[in-house]
Amino acid sequence: MTTHKGACFCGSVQIEVTGEPEAMGYCHCASCRSWSAGPVNAFSLWKPDAVRVVSGVENIATFKKTEKSERQYCSKCGGHLMTNHPPFGLIDVYAATLPTLKFTPGVHVNYAETVLPMRDGLPKLKDFPAELGGSEEQMRE
Ligand SMILES: [Zn+2]
Ligand SMILES: [Zn+2]
Repeated sequence: MTTHKGACFCGSVQIEVTGEPEAMGYCHCASCRSWSAGPVNAFSLWKPDAVRVVSGVENIATFKKTEKSERQYCSKCGGHLMTNHPPFGLIDVYAATLPTLKFTPGVHVNYAETVLPMRDGLPKLKDFPAELGGSEEQMRE
């Protein structure tokens, strides 16, 4: 099985993912934007048992604004690592954290909140897919 390695900004936290992600895409929500300081979040979603912290676990800090998202970052450098979504049983390892993962986005979520429209022909969901509790309603690009 394929393994991809990732790290925080300073390198003290090392992570590894194995296999293939459940999904990849872009989230346009205001929370992702505020936390990442970027206009969109490029996500890759993994089953928790596919994600392993290889070293530096003592440097991982977690910020939880809602029960849906446990945002994990390095307490030394502030570099972002991943967001655990317990209600979904999935972990978003930021695509940018995994340099060797070929990012092949399949969907845009929370497009109703976009500040950066992306006309790439992919489906644009107003919020989330139905299996994640969303309306699955599609929007125009
Ligand atoms: Zn770090
Ligand atoms: Zn988001």
